[in-house]
Amino acid sequence: LARPAVIDPNILSALRAREVARFIAANPKSKSCFDNSNGWFQHVPFHWMLDWPSPFPIVAASAQGATLTGLDGQIFDDFCLGDTASMFGHSPSALAVALAEQAGHGLSYMLPTTKGAELGDMLAGMFGLPNWQVTTTASEANRAVIRWCRGLTGRSKILIFNGCYHGAVDDVFVDLRDGVAANRPSLIGQVQDLLPTTVAIEFNDVAALESALRGGDIACVLAEPVMTNIGMVRDAPGYLETLRRLCSETGTLLVFDETHTISSGFGGHSNRYGPMPDVMVIGKSIGGGVPCAVYGFSAEISVRMEALNKARPAGHSGIGTTLSANALAITAMHAMLGQVITREAYDHMLAMADSLVLGLNKVIETHRLPWHVSHVGARVEFVCAPRPPANGTEARAAMDHSLESMVHLYLTNRGILLAPFHNMMLLSPVTQEAQIDRLLQALDSCVGELLE
Ligand code: PMP
Repeated sequence: LARPAVIDPNILSALRAREVARFIAANPKSKSCFDNSNGWFQHVPFHWMLDWPSPFPIVAASAQGATLTGLDGQIFDDFCLGDTASMFGHSPSALAVALAEQAGHGLSYMLPTTKGAELGDMLAGMFGLPNWQVTTTASEANRAVIRWCRGLTGRSKILIFNGCYHGAVDDVFVDLRDGVAANRPSLIGQVQDLLPTTVAIEFNDVAALESALRGGDIACVLAEPVMTNIGMVRDAPGYLETLRRLCSETGTLLVFDETHTISSGFGGHSNRYGPMPDVMVIGKSIGGGVPCAVYGFSAEISVRMEALNKARPAGHSGIGTTLSANALAITAMHAMLGQVITREAYDHMLAMADSLVLGLNKVIETHRLPWHVSHVGARVEFVCAPRPPANGTEARAAMDHSLESMVHLYLTNRGILLAPFHNMMLLSPVTQEAQIDRLLQALDSCVGELLE
């Protein structure tokens, strides 16, 4: 066997300097707009926009389908797609038409609509759970679901997997460091100790799961069926079935956050591969970029929720916000589910994903890189480590920020956008083979230069 390729740190830093200079030279209008955006804290309306690997963010002029045009005129092949929010393509025409039509008829009334009535049935049909509620973001849906689960079970603890991400949800920010649970130190203004009520274990660890759930004091397990936010971590064969069985046996509610894994196949990961959760959360792409999210639950949970809601004293539930289920959000989801998130859309997305995976593996083999490709449905990732990680700790160890951010910047300079926080590539229903070819060519030449 040929020896795996090794990347020289000097070459890496020289390439980074060259690519930073190239980015600055190619994006003068973005730079000027960014520099002059003095009304915003740190020059951006939302600080995550500084997390791209470039010295300043590309200022977006417009986006359509699977392309995005920057202020300096460059057209990017977009594999980031708003980090899943626009996974089904930017401004699909059915969505654009429906939003424009609704715009003249009021956007938020805090009243149900006929479109909403249809949408409830559409959600049940697509995702296989009978009852639903709407929130404004997936973070908010997860917060609501945690509250419901605690209320329904009378238990205070939740269980999450080390390395997970479920949005801006306080209860979830517990990590395992050297096997010991710790509050995440990077949080701003965190005053609550989460350790008494949040149990973190490693994904795929059956013994730890069994021991935690057999205590009978966990309200819910909140999980992605495949971890996608620390690189991808696949479920070991049988793990999700064991999780399902142990939850049922211990009266623990199983919540699958399918905000990202809706990319696994039509109806989401649980529908495609099983098992079904008690509660499912879906956000981001379901509104095609309009802020909204949903959570769905089984008939049995629905009955229990109704009883709980009736039995509690009058007053705030702590769940929901004024704009939840506003007419614009309902219209967006109605158009997306009815006309955009279709079986045919997935056929194309999955075929494109297969093609990208084939190409990525070829680049890795050609250059004898100690890398591998993760792939679930329309979500593909190259990982700069030889073996797929089994859990959050291994996934964290596999990350090489300095290398990965340089690769991202190199690709950006050649018209390819990847999500800033991952090496994740999303394939939309309108992504073209030519875009994949351009990504592969750019990656091949990047790796070639790194190994020179
Ligand atoms: N759940 C998962 C699995 C996510 O990946 C994210 C965001 N990356 C969220 C929830 C939160 O979504 P939002 O930021 O739209 O609230």
